[in-house]
Amino acid sequence: MKTFPMFLRMDGRRVVFAGGSEEIARKIRLIRRTEAAILICTPDPLVPELAVLVAAGDAVHHPRWPDARDLAGAALLFVATGDDATDVELAQLARRVGVPVNVVDRPDLCDAYTPCIVDRDPVVVAIGTEGTAPVLARQIRAGIEATLEPGLGRLAALAGRMRGMVEDHVPKHRRRAFWEWAFAGRPRHLQAKGDGAGAAITLRDAALSGGAPDRDGGWIALVGAGPGARDLLTLRAMQRLQQADVIFYDRLVDPEVLDLARRDADRVFVGKEVGAHSWPQDQINATIVAAAWRGLRVVRLKSGDPSVFGRACEEIEAARAAGIAVELVPGITAASAAAASLTRALTERQATERLVVATATCKPGDRADLGAAFAPGTTLALYMAMHRLAEVEAELIAAGAPRHCEVEFVQQAGSAGERILRSTLGRMAADAAVAGLRNPAVILVRWPKEGMVELAGDLPRLRDRPLAVGGTR
Ligand code: SAH
Repeated sequence: MKTFPMFLRMDGRRVVFAGGSEEIARKIRLIRRTEAAILICTPDPLVPELAVLVAAGDAVHHPRWPDARDLAGAALLFVATGDDATDVELAQLARRVGVPVNVVDRPDLCDAYTPCIVDRDPVVVAIGTEGTAPVLARQIRAGIEATLEPGLGRLAALAGRMRGMVEDHVPKHRRRAFWEWAFAGRPRHLQAKGDGAGAAITLRDAALSGGAPDRDGGWIALVGAGPGARDLLTLRAMQRLQQADVIFYDRLVDPEVLDLARRDADRVFVGKEVGAHSWPQDQINATIVAAAWRGLRVVRLKSGDPSVFGRACEEIEAARAAGIAVELVPGITAASAAAASLTRALTERQATERLVVATATCKPGDRADLGAAFAPGTTLALYMAMHRLAEVEAELIAAGAPRHCEVEFVQQAGSAGERILRSTLGRMAADAAVAGLRNPAVILVRWPKEGMVELAGDLPRLRDRPLAVGGTR
């Protein structure tokens, strides 16, 4: 290591900037997150952002280059004067008076480099590459940003405030376990959900009782895995996956999403898919509740959005009935993923201004009654319909929908095996059979408001679009 990372104290100190350009403004934006006073020294005009800062009294401006008096006791000097000779001179001056200097884009003149920063104040992660690969540093930062939830700094600050209390009440040999629990268990989970008061109360109660609870009253998160591609997962979903002790997942959940879980987390396949061998719902409910009851952090991972045809309601009720904290983390539902695959909106102004999300599969004995949901001005997004296409077609036509309504099938939207078929209502079952489309697929049927939009090209149009592994294109 040519450089050594340290955190500099900034409260009550001054940082000096030689220059008033955009480059300097970028550094000032960073330093403004600290408590340091900002002194800008330059005879040149300031960019508007800095002029506003000075006018508001948030920075002081001297219309000349900095001298030894400006630098006395300063924490840092940043230099970007626009003139090489002046840059060198100021770097030498800083060195003479013992102030670390950073000359923008001149690593050879620098004593100090600015890292890439993940800011969860007071938790700060700094990434440096000694100037070799700033783009890599930014990529690493993006990865860390995604795993540290926004409330994490508040939890750290809370821990800081409670340190004395913990020392008073938690015996020394239990302290480490206490803090491990605080940052990985229920307090962190509560804070991540935005319940800072809950986190504080949980921590205080545990401290007063002499240590972390033996059983951390686990939790259940019903997490949307999206349509398959891991970059269609929410950041919150990713955080829950990384916190989970055990993950119960469905058939439709893509392995690349599951890979994001902690390596030592248990993965339990509950095999839910229409018609396929699967656990009965009651057994799933009982099992996830029992796991949370044992103190485990349980993720129930469901394809798409857990609140869409995911039997979330039963699992939420089971958790509530057992007094277990339960949370729903939304995901991208199949219809949204299909729209993205088609690069076509689900609703189109003046043509289809109503979106109906429906399943063609109900409890045995019930009728889906799709006709009742379909009317002019509607896009019908049909889930679980592939095994009864002929009935769906007949039912919609019987409801008065024109046979030439546009139909789009998207099989495995958003993942590597994606296939798209365009057809019309009157021949959708036949076209899908010829193309050999299979589950999982979502079907969009559009019945525009007035008249029919003429379809371009010959039907059916089938597009097989093998994607690169990873779903990126
Ligand atoms: N909760 C899921 C839906 C589960 S029901 C969601 O929000 O997407 C299962 C049905 O969803 C499948 O029969 C199929 O109609 C649809 N589906 C799930 N994943 C899909 C995908 N990647 N592409 C197309 N349809 C999908």
